[in-house]
Amino acid sequence: RDDQPVDINETINTALKLLRGQLEHVELSADLQDLPTIRASQGKLVQVWTNLIKNGIEAMTAGGTPTRRPKISITSRATRDSVMVVIDDTGPGIPDDVLPRIFEPSFSTKTHGLNFGLGLGLSIVQRVAAECGGNITAKNTPTGARFIVQLPREVLDV
Ligand code: ADP
Ligand code: MG
Repeated sequence: RDDQPVDINETINTALKLLRGQLEHVELSADLQDLPTIRASQGKLVQVWTNLIKNGIEAMTAGGTPTRRPKISITSRATRDSVMVVIDDTGPGIPDDVLPRIFEPSFSTKTHGLNFGLGLGLSIVQRVAAECGGNITAKNTPTGARFIVQLPREVLDV
């Protein structure tokens, strides 16, 4: 089945392994708390973290010039009814006029160059989060962009 109890931290670690090559020159901080399982497709969740981390890496290497101290930080936390994963980068952040559009399918600012993109990554992330009954939000921080994924914890039958 496609919809099993999933350990989110395991899917994050799988994504980090897949991106090992691209993370070679990026500082990585992963602060993963023990989490309750959620009901989701393991493969789709790996795709979620992969898309988000890749975007962070691309934002920090736009035009081939890396930001001075490229760093990805991943934090996972359990709240009362959900699990929350926060992914931060130290890139330039998301311009105000771009922010409202980033989840639209086929929206991309990477229309040319090394990181050419089809603009599908975040629309897939949003769809998968919604399929799990969760959501994703994006904002800027003083140091870069932040994506927050919230997924409801598995409801155990009583
Ligand atoms: P793509 O990566 O192919 O452009 P995405 O759906 O993954 O498509 O992202 C859409 C757009 O959102 C990007 O083109 C970029 O403008 C913006 N974006 C996404 N992640 C970040 C980030 N971490 N920092 C700055 N901008 C971002
Ligand atoms: Mg992308």
